Amino acid sequence: MITSQKSAPCLGCGQELKKAFNAIEPGFEVHRCPSCGMGRTWPDVPSCEIGRYYPAVYYGKDNVRFNPLLERLTQLFRLQRARVVRHRVKAGTVLDVGCGRGFTLSYLKSLGFKAHGMEFSDTAAWHARNVLGIEVETGDFLNSRHQKDTYNAMIFWHSLEHLPSPIEALVRAHELLKKGGLLVVAVPNFDSLQARLFGRHWFHLDIPRHYFHFGKKTLKKEIQAQGFSIVQMNHFGFEQNPYGWIQSFYNALGFDPNFLYSILKNKTARTHQIRQHLMQAALTLILLPLFTLLSLVLVLVETALRQGGTIEVYAVKR
Ligand SMILES: [Zn+2]
Repeated sequence: MITSQKSAPCLGCGQELKKAFNAIEPGFEVHRCPSCGMGRTWPDVPSCEIGRYYPAVYYGKDNVRFNPLLERLTQLFRLQRARVVRHRVKAGTVLDVGCGRGFTLSYLKSLGFKAHGMEFSDTAAWHARNVLGIEVETGDFLNSRHQKDTYNAMIFWHSLEHLPSPIEALVRAHELLKKGGLLVVAVPNFDSLQARLFGRHWFHLDIPRHYFHFGKKTLKKEIQAQGFSIVQMNHFGFEQNPYGWIQSFYNALGFDPNFLYSILKNKTARTHQIRQHLMQAALTLILLPLFTLLSLVLVLVETALRQGGTIEVYAVKR
């Protein structure tokens, strides 16, 4: 699929992008804007074809993605996320775009919110709808049936970078929110220390599912340009940032890309079977304590430098 075609202009500032590196995924490149630093996956997969990069195994059987311990941890992170929203918005209606399995919405519902979700496909929405009973619309967010000036809060938790038109999505979020409504956006930070150190081996690139690679500057600028005032930007995230370091160390050392991530998953969601990679699994385990320790130190460093591997932005509609 590799192409010599010229890249599209920068979504953030319109400048011509330059090739930064070949992605690990064959046939893809990552381009970067020399002016604002925004990245983009090239070529981009048309929306009508992206579905094949989200096969059933991506979600796991019955949408169970990880081993029981990590599943429990994931739910604690979702509960925490719901509490953070509740801290800023006392009540009302919330829309989670890319709601995944719906845990955050389910916790918000139990805190008294009316909870709505948006997902890319019925497979992705299965758990939220059928297990948690959340109302989830599927399909294209830009053409969804949601009403203007309706929502008290909208969440894009690691979903904006999966959308082929993220700026339009922010414009639409602004339309759907009530005045003073809260926008929550979390994305991998392409300007981060881990992104710059690891380049093509950086775990959070997730190509070609991520169309765009936001840096903190571009994200901030785009959110403000669409009529929001930023109230908080976090560079510390325990859910994503240490793991970004750990997995990128292995990737850079030549392990199969995201091998550890695969074996931490539920059996039905794994892309690698441990018994076929015993040596690699053993080496992975041996190195894990060292990489975990290093990652914790580096998370403190990146947070202090305001260069977190992923960032969270809280903004309100002006
Ligand atoms: Zn730019």
